[in-house]
Amino acid sequence: TRTPLLAGNWKMNLDHLQSIAFVQKLAWSLKDANHDFDGAEVAIFPPFTDLRSVQTLISADKLPIHFGAQDVSAHDSGAYTGEISGAFLKALDCQYVIIGHSERRTLHNETDEVVNTKVLAALKHGLVPVICVGETAEDLEKHGPSAVPVAQLKAALASVTGAVDIVVAYEPVWAIGSGQAATPEQAEQVAAQLRVTLRELLGDEVAEATRVLYGGSVKSGNIAGFMREPNVDGALIGGASLDLNEFASIVRFQK
Ligand code: 13P
Repeated sequence: TRTPLLAGNWKMNLDHLQSIAFVQKLAWSLKDANHDFDGAEVAIFPPFTDLRSVQTLISADKLPIHFGAQDVSAHDSGAYTGEISGAFLKALDCQYVIIGHSERRTLHNETDEVVNTKVLAALKHGLVPVICVGETAEDLEKHGPSAVPVAQLKAALASVTGAVDIVVAYEPVWAIGSGQAATPEQAEQVAAQLRVTLRELLGDEVAEATRVLYGGSVKSGNIAGFMREPNVDGALIGGASLDLNEFASIVRFQK
């Protein structure tokens, strides 16, 4: 049994002062609602400049909120101006790091090879990579629903072996920020194929333990449908994760 993961990708929103206010309010709101943190894990992915503030607040108040970064360098250290090492993220108690988000792939030219080197870097530094895969509308028309996400996952996991701790996020590009989410059936179909791929590459145990998330226009009104699907183990939430009431109600989804 996999613990559901509800993860908020803030993208480039909320500075470090805003992040403190947001996390405090989120924690109060979930506490007020008696959120079952063992039943569903909550994670946030703030900008790099917020991570120290978020770490300090979460550790001082022992808040049951997990966090990670939105990207990581493929390198450990050195002359890479503007890059952030996985070692630095680990030192800030980051548990997760998002890798290969479609915005990084398209706006920052991240290829499958780059995504793979970043996954290896994350694992090397003890971070759990949240590997994002997803097809464009054009891919969907040309290749059907699973071909591109499966190929992206295979590439991301090249030379990864063993009992690795990873998360996979299926985010159809056409559903991100569009208000047009995939249907639960569409998400399940691809999530199931991604799990088959995990089984082929990493074996039964890892495939059974790995959480496969859906992302793309998730909101409080559609989360329950996704969570009912057997291969969808949570969600990666963009826009709605910045609205406290929306995010809090998504996190408290009812099966
Ligand atoms: P939206 O929830 O805003 O569609 O964004 C999804 C996403 O890209 C999460 O990583």
